[in-house]
Parts: sequence; structure tokens; C-alpha cells
Amino acid sequence: MTRLLPTSTAGSLPKPGWLAQPETLWSPWKLAGEELDEGRRDALRLALADQRHAGIDIVSDGEQTRQHFVTTFIEHLAGVDFIRRETVRIRDRYDASVPTVVGPVSRPRPVFVDDARFLRRQTGQPIKWALPGPMTMVDTLHDAHYCSREKLAWEFACILNQEAHELAAAGVDIVQFDEPAFNVFFDEVNDWGVTALERAAQGLPCRTAVHICYGYGIAANTEWKQSLGSEWRQYEEAFPKLQGSSIDIVSLECHNSRVPMDLIELIRGKTVMVGAIDVASHVVETAEEVADTLRRALRFVDADRLYPSTNCGMAPLPRHVAQGKLAALAAGAAIVRQELAG
Ligand SMILES: [Zn+2]
Repeated sequence: MTRLLPTSTAGSLPKPGWLAQPETLWSPWKLAGEELDEGRRDALRLALADQRHAGIDIVSDGEQTRQHFVTTFIEHLAGVDFIRRETVRIRDRYDASVPTVVGPVSRPRPVFVDDARFLRRQTGQPIKWALPGPMTMVDTLHDAHYCSREKLAWEFACILNQEAHELAAAGVDIVQFDEPAFNVFFDEVNDWGVTALERAAQGLPCRTAVHICYGYGIAANTEWKQSLGSEWRQYEEAFPKLQGSSIDIVSLECHNSRVPMDLIELIRGKTVMVGAIDVASHVVETAEEVADTLRRALRFVDADRLYPSTNCGMAPLPRHVAQGKLAALAAGAAIVRQELAG
């Protein structure tokens, strides 16, 4: 990126009401067959238009073609049985009915590559594509085959690497792996989580990012956050290992969260996507609030490595709120860009 403080989002944007039930996670599709295929692509173009209109620099598909950031990817894999479901505790936080790994996992065909090609044809701007991270995938399943989170994560990492290489070949500039599980399972992060993540990103010709957050603004996450005390120091556990990793960019949550900003010091040298938009609130930030968060981050990250972003995805928000937040992000970044130039 030649422009200073290029803006982006963590990933998802709300879907149009004609495609899926608004303000709902895992919302079922309202269309089917060819109508659904066309509807998803129309929604992708609208999500892109919203980002362009707001002035977002690094754009995405807004995750319009997927129902869930982990499950949709897993649905395309062999070795996972979606009929055989088990209720498991995910992210050590809430129970969910999840599919079961019943045999060796593999990727019989590309998952998002056609969608990424489609997005690439719509825009000349840099594009970022989100994939689930290996640990978060493992944590969203019941495993009756490998019986080892580490082994299964390694298999997923190899599969993700195949997909990521094809996404890069399709013109994706940044492949991002979503690893909210990195904020929960600290021993595993350091034992094998970061190694699996690096395997997923191995040899990619494009830039790579990892997104670690405190989740969508849903009740289970809000309650969990209330249990975390006055300072959220979770990043302290994973950052030293990530600092030494091959991953280029770390996307994290800042605005309205209790994460001490100085933890960014621990990933000195990395590009940092700083969350300057709260996705757990319907209140649209002012440009000045965004600018203030970015200014505080600038004490710990060099300006040419600061990428203003959102704390997490905005899928569960009303569309007008998400649109307002995109505009605030761009306006706040513009204020600080001007200050840096002057
Ligand atoms: Zn997130």
C-alpha cells in the first residue's frame, strides 16, 4: 500500500434482507439454487459498493457468500459428517451443535476461489480474503477420527494452504486467517497453534494476516467479556510467539475494549490492523473517536504499519449502522493521515 493508514474491515458485513434474515448469525438463506448463487453475488457487489462509497481502501466480499465464517468452509471438506452432530462447548464459552470429523479430512474442490475471482473482476483496489484459522476450525467441530486437536489442526492447515494459494492466484492481496480461539487456548497457541497457522500461510506469494478478537457482539461474548476484569491482557499470551512468526499482519480489537494499547509493543515489526470500530454497539463512532484510537495506537506502532480496521465482523449489525461505521472509519483515518502529513 502506498497510501498511509489504509482502511479495511475485519471481514463480514450485514447481508441484505432478501438474501438472509438480518441481524442474525448463521442466518439461513432465503433463496435456493441458481437464485441463491446470483443473490449471493449481487450481495457481494452491494457490500463492495458500500465499502467504496465509504472510502475503504482494502476491500473484501463482506462474507456475503458464506453463512458462517468457519462452518461454510468445513461444509466443503470431505471427512466431516454434517448429519452426525454433537453439542460441544466452543471457545470454552457457549454450547453449539457441530458436525463430526469421521475420517481423513481433505478438500475435494476449491471453496471460495470462484467468489474471489468474481470480487477481483469487480475492483482494482487491494482485496483481502478471510479464511478460518486451523485452531478455530478444530474448536468448532467434534473430532471422532484423529482424537487430537493438534493433529486435526495440522491437517486443516495443509488444506487451508491449498485454498490460500489458489486465492492468491485469483488475485487476492491479503489472505487473513480468523483465529478468535487464540484468545482462549493460550497453551495450545504456543504449543502448536502458531505453527499450524504458519503452515496454513506457508509459501504464499501474497501478504498474510491473522485476526484475533473478542468476537461478535452476541450475548455469550458480551457476558464473557464482563468476566475478564478491568484489563484484557489475553493478547499478551499469543503476541510474543506471533511476533516471531512468518505472518505479516495482526488484526486486533481496540476501540471500546479493555485491551491495554501498549500490548501492541509485543508485535513490533508487524503491520497492525487496529480495531477502531466497536462491533458490539449500534452507536456509530464519530470520526474524532476513530482518530483518537488511531492516535493512541501510533504510540506503539509505526505509521506505515498501522492499518485502521474494525474490531471484528459487522454481520449481525443493521445495514445502516454498518454503513455509518464504515464511513466513520474512513473519516477518522483521514483526520490522522492529514495530521501525519502536516
Ligand atoms: Zn473477529
